[in-house]
Amino acid sequence: MVDIADGWHWREEAWGAALQQDALGAVAAHVITSRALNFRTQPEADYAALARTFGRSAGDVVRVTQMHGRAIVHVRPGEDVPNGIEADAIISTDPARVISVRVADCVPVLIADRHQRVVAAVHAGWKGTCAAIAEATVEAIAAQDVAPGDLVAAIGPSIGSCCYQVDSRVRHSFLAMTPDAAAWMGEDGMERWKLDLWQANVDQLVRAGMREDAIHVARVCTADHLDRCFSHRAEGPTTGRMVAAIRLRAPTRC
Ligand SMILES: [Zn+2]
Repeated sequence: MVDIADGWHWREEAWGAALQQDALGAVAAHVITSRALNFRTQPEADYAALARTFGRSAGDVVRVTQMHGRAIVHVRPGEDVPNGIEADAIISTDPARVISVRVADCVPVLIADRHQRVVAAVHAGWKGTCAAIAEATVEAIAAQDVAPGDLVAAIGPSIGSCCYQVDSRVRHSFLAMTPDAAAWMGEDGMERWKLDLWQANVDQLVRAGMREDAIHVARVCTADHLDRCFSHRAEGPTTGRMVAAIRLRAPTRC
């Protein structure tokens, strides 16, 4: 296992390298895939391989059609969820299913309750971050009577501010959402800014009530780690996708 930062580790699954975070792993089964699976050339085989990591089959993996918006889908025991339903966040109270989002520069956020009542997976690119999808997800969890202070979050590999230059259109979209956004943008000259999506999502989770020390950022920039990660910006839209997946661990009774 290669230690990165803040309790994150690369480890070897049957299909190749995968990322996990210790504090999240203490309360939920989860994984973020690497280039070993691309979810493009043979997605069904890749989802089957991912599912086996959780001891489940591909049909137990909930997938959504990501819209860069603010829609959240709920997965509850015994209730079907239409395959490919449009949403950018999934909240699950069902230990029988694995919930998943796909990324290649966009920010994957995995969330779990310390008392194992709920887990969530969030896809937050710049538009989703601007729509405060991570904040909306924690608010939706809180509405189910799980206190945000009980949550642990892991923010996985995604484009870092080192490689993410944006224009004034993106900057103005963020500033229209919240004045806090000024802190997420460093000037890069020529009417360009470096956008820090990691800090933006940390701030949103804290604003929704999470403890900052319960939020673990991998700080792995996808564009700088093409040996392990896919990057839309660095490689173009036809590159593969990484999947961030999490499953509720049924509480053990004593
Ligand atoms: Zn970078």
